[in-house]
Amino acid sequence: MIDLRSDTVTKPTPAMKQAMFDADVGDDMMGEDPTVNRLETMVAEMLGKEAAVFACSGTQSNQMGVRVNCVPGDELLINDTGHIGIFEAGGPAVLSGVTVRQLGAPKGMLSIDDLIWQPRVSDQHFCRTRLVCLENTTNIAGGFVYPLEQMQQVAGWAADNDLRMHLDGARFFNAVVAAGYSAAEMAACFDTISICFSKGLGCPMGSVLVGTAKDMQLARRVRKMLGGALRQSGIVAAAAIYALKNNVDRLQQDHDNATLLATKLAAIDGIDACPDATESNLVFFEINAEPGTAVQLAAALKERGVRMGPMGGQRMRAATHLDISEQDILTAADAVRTCVEKGFADQELVGSGPYSK
Ligand SMILES: *Cc1c(COP(=O)(O)O)cnc(C)c1O
Repeated sequence: MIDLRSDTVTKPTPAMKQAMFDADVGDDMMGEDPTVNRLETMVAEMLGKEAAVFACSGTQSNQMGVRVNCVPGDELLINDTGHIGIFEAGGPAVLSGVTVRQLGAPKGMLSIDDLIWQPRVSDQHFCRTRLVCLENTTNIAGGFVYPLEQMQQVAGWAADNDLRMHLDGARFFNAVVAAGYSAAEMAACFDTISICFSKGLGCPMGSVLVGTAKDMQLARRVRKMLGGALRQSGIVAAAAIYALKNNVDRLQQDHDNATLLATKLAAIDGIDACPDATESNLVFFEINAEPGTAVQLAAALKERGVRMGPMGGQRMRAATHLDISEQDILTAADAVRTCVEKGFADQELVGSGPYSK
């Protein structure tokens, strides 16, 4: 099966498993897991921040970030495609008492123009606008990569307006590799940064939240409250250390494969794909209405050993990752071509995709 549904489907390689097997471990809740401690120090140093806290998932580290930056009654601003606003089960409301205000933005990337009139005035009627959340790379907005300058401008504006900045860096290193800026340059724009190891970096699980020592102390308490404080978690932290050493530079291959896939898809009659707009490892394309919907194409592709993610209506996402080769890309593109040529409207139509009715 060529599985392009997500970059989370990767399985740990033998070398990563060996690193996990060999990990030195201790009780992390007592601060005694040497491998977790090493990972946290390593990431904090890479990003030029004081401290980091290992978390179970990107959702957990994002929600720790929201709780650290806000108090109940506060409001956060985010693009309307942002993961924190739509894919985290209403976490800000439930876990932090925080209202989410979703704003439109070109390519899903907020700039000062989108934000400038949004902070509420100080008045008893309003919640306090407190946090701006950016996502880099963007996920469902299109896999786009923020220019450094745009993040710096928003950060400067946020500081002037007494707002905090959180980065959902689920694909932080995809952005670093695609844009060529450093981890520390990007991190300097944010108070808190969440990074996933379970996406392109190929780990079975794990994320990290990064920020000041004081904020991370609070984040640790929030993590405990969320049930995310673990014991011998060096077993999984070892995979993350392995990934930081071995799986960052190779993300370029995933980006090249994504561009190749978009190029092959764009050549198919009935498919609208845009290689020029493919900036990282996520490929989005539209199926012209006639052959059927994205859900139907996904079903037809599955029968041919290829999986992709319907995104609602005619829109499809394909994510490249370290278990996908260039040959897999060519095979997958051929499978799409065959499906489109043969038609797939006979496939069962169940909903429009996983994200909406
Ligand atoms: C995957 C992802 C997350 C975190 O998801 P988990 O499944 O909790 O690891 C957060 N933000 C974005 C943009 C993502 O793509």
